[in-house]
Amino acid sequence: MLQWPDFPVVSRLAPTPSGFLHLGNAINFTLTWLLTRRAGGVLHLRIDDLDRARFRPAYLENIFRTLEWLGLDYDHGPAGPEDFERYFSQQHLLSAYEAVLQAAKQAHPGVFYACRCSRTDLARLARPDGCYPGTCRHYSLPLATPQTAWRALVPPATTVHFPDLLQGPVTSHLDTALGDFVVRKKDGAAAYQVASVVDDVRLGVTLVVRGQDLLPSTAAQLWLAQYLPGQEAFRSTRFLHHGLVLDESGQKLSKSTQAGGQRGIVEEAGSPQVVYGAVARLLGLAPAVGQSLAGLLAELHPGA
Ligand SMILES: [Zn+2]
Repeated sequence: MLQWPDFPVVSRLAPTPSGFLHLGNAINFTLTWLLTRRAGGVLHLRIDDLDRARFRPAYLENIFRTLEWLGLDYDHGPAGPEDFERYFSQQHLLSAYEAVLQAAKQAHPGVFYACRCSRTDLARLARPDGCYPGTCRHYSLPLATPQTAWRALVPPATTVHFPDLLQGPVTSHLDTALGDFVVRKKDGAAAYQVASVVDDVRLGVTLVVRGQDLLPSTAAQLWLAQYLPGQEAFRSTRFLHHGLVLDESGQKLSKSTQAGGQRGIVEEAGSPQVVYGAVARLLGLAPAVGQSLAGLLAELHPGA
């Protein structure tokens, strides 16, 4: 049962320009937009281009195209690809992320350790749950060692509890869900978990809406934020994790449909109604024929 936000909502759409956006992304954006607009909140567009290796200009353009196709507006963020590159790219924020990492290292010695494992090592060492087994914990390499990643040392039996607006109370066992996750990559750039926390705090985000597949990331970020100086506000962020993408009969959509093939949802779907219908089902509403965005918002009147 969905618990409507009863706090001032500041949220964000946070796509990554590393592929064409698929149905799952479109559903997430529409749901985030609806929750924010219903609450009279503020919506940011925050494009996560930390990983420039997988970046393509066509993927960046596809983000703006998808939002326009869905009819979703936002209050702050880049107006288009050029504006994004010039003023909003995470590449402009790398020194800010680094400053937070250095401050955390000073304030909490031992919370990070250097890992020199190669990709091959990581594949070979991975535990049955897929997590890194903490091999380099025991080598005590200086964090300044070149060509080493920094990992967070997640103690055994670390659990993270938080209330979820859709799932209710959630408990995540971080040590088995993600293990010793990377906070700084071998090239010296902050990793996703750090950048995401710092960006959300910088934007004053109070509500994060994400797919259930990102639950381990939420747990990692909530745990990590207590060690990141200046980022304590993240600990009071509220979350909504939405589950499976369902078709009209309540079945999980096939992987190919969900992934949107190679071309993305805008090219694959005839109209955004397939997205609005899926969001209606996620919210427990009966999807109307020719479901519109305005119709969805109208159904979500306060007190509904
Ligand atoms: Zn290692």
